[in-house]
Amino acid sequence: MTFAPFVSLHNHSEQGSPLDGMNDINALFKRAKEIEHSSIAITEHGTLVSHYDAYKASQNTGVKLIPGIEAYFAPDLKEKKSSHMVLIPKNENGYKNILRLNYESYKNQASGYMGKMTPRISWDDISNFGEDIFCLTACSNGLLSKDLIAGADAKAEENITKLHAIFGDRLFLEIQPHALKTDDGKVDQNKLNDKLIGLSKKYRIPFVATCDAHYLDREHAKYHDMLLAVKDKKPLSDPNRFKYGVQEMYLKTSDEITDFFGEKIANIAMSNAVKIASLCEEPHYLKSRGAILPQFPVKNQADYQNFKTWWELNCSELPIDKAYLRYRCIKGFKIFSEGFSYEKQLEYWNRTKYELSVLEMHNFSSYMLIVADYVSWARDQSIGTGPGRGCFVPDSMVKLSDGSMKPIQEISVGDEVISHDGTNNIVTDTLSYDISEEIIELEFEDGRLISCTQDHEFFTSNRGWVKAIDLDENDDVVEV
Ligand SMILES: [Zn+2]
Ligand SMILES: [Zn+2]
Repeated sequence: MTFAPFVSLHNHSEQGSPLDGMNDINALFKRAKEIEHSSIAITEHGTLVSHYDAYKASQNTGVKLIPGIEAYFAPDLKEKKSSHMVLIPKNENGYKNILRLNYESYKNQASGYMGKMTPRISWDDISNFGEDIFCLTACSNGLLSKDLIAGADAKAEENITKLHAIFGDRLFLEIQPHALKTDDGKVDQNKLNDKLIGLSKKYRIPFVATCDAHYLDREHAKYHDMLLAVKDKKPLSDPNRFKYGVQEMYLKTSDEITDFFGEKIANIAMSNAVKIASLCEEPHYLKSRGAILPQFPVKNQADYQNFKTWWELNCSELPIDKAYLRYRCIKGFKIFSEGFSYEKQLEYWNRTKYELSVLEMHNFSSYMLIVADYVSWARDQSIGTGPGRGCFVPDSMVKLSDGSMKPIQEISVGDEVISHDGTNNIVTDTLSYDISEEIIELEFEDGRLISCTQDHEFFTSNRGWVKAIDLDENDDVVEV
């Protein structure tokens, strides 16, 4: 079966629109591929949280991700009211602007529906950060829709002009292929669609169809209705609870869109959706760049001046984070080792120097300072902290200097093992402890099985460091 080209630029998932969107991200992309949508936008309510997983789903299916947002828009920040507004980034600059708008929205948040804090953007925000963004006017909760539903058409027309002044030819009036109608008769999506199409003609602003998909199939509508009852904390039987009342908020095919609007309107609405999608760059800017650790802000520390003097005198050749970790360790060591015999002090000092050299070699100094920072903050607040743990389990294999392998639980004092830096070392002590968490078992090409915690990272030639839980058959693990 072949479908006329269409893409939906407004959709929700369970991840970013909890208790409202019910779509599993991977299933949504799979469905988009099945019905020949070459792109799909993910536009959660007031958050960008699902874009990372959506990007992975996009890479797996070949369906282009358009990482948008259904933002809450407050025409007047002094009032609590807000409307919906769909924002779609054209390119990386547009995405950065959406990130900025999202940031601003949390500064402007107000308590809204059911006491939930709602992040909101304002006229000023979209004027300042609207560049390279397509604006779609959203659902029946949109800025224009609300006024049109209330019969305040003049107000809606005033806002069209204001939006057009900001977004220009990147503004689209959004029509939706479902007949949502509230029991009180106020909301009637069909009437709304007609009004929007009328305004499109009057103001020469194009309209576009979106599915506003909250679930995957028509059959899922009843489960989605249960979800809404949970959200409202009301029984299913409550006649006054919030309902959609239609079974059409799913990802539709172009045939279904055509059936709904008729050929003439559908053709325009769908080709505009395809046009917007084609103008949106594939968001490779979302690709993971691995762990990006911030530099620990040494200069903000209370003991910075003392440290600086010490640094210049003792190890001015070292980068600041490595030098500061050394400085802190030396200070800490003096307190820790007080009262120890000279021999014990020497033993611990040598061990400290050795561990510091390993951390410096692997560029982990900033990481250790960051962990120390939040652990000591937690202790100051009387919040419990754990002892930390490794991620190997008793049968994790360790390589010995003669090339043989042994499970770590069988390693004993006197064994010669190959260390992290490739040197041979005699084991002088062992310790073990219990953990209670799920263990994962991996099978390698040579038939070897390895058990480890899910977050243990393996180095692969194709994807760099990958957690055990995320490894798949295509990964090439460099050394086990
Ligand atoms: Zn909406
Ligand atoms: Zn929506």
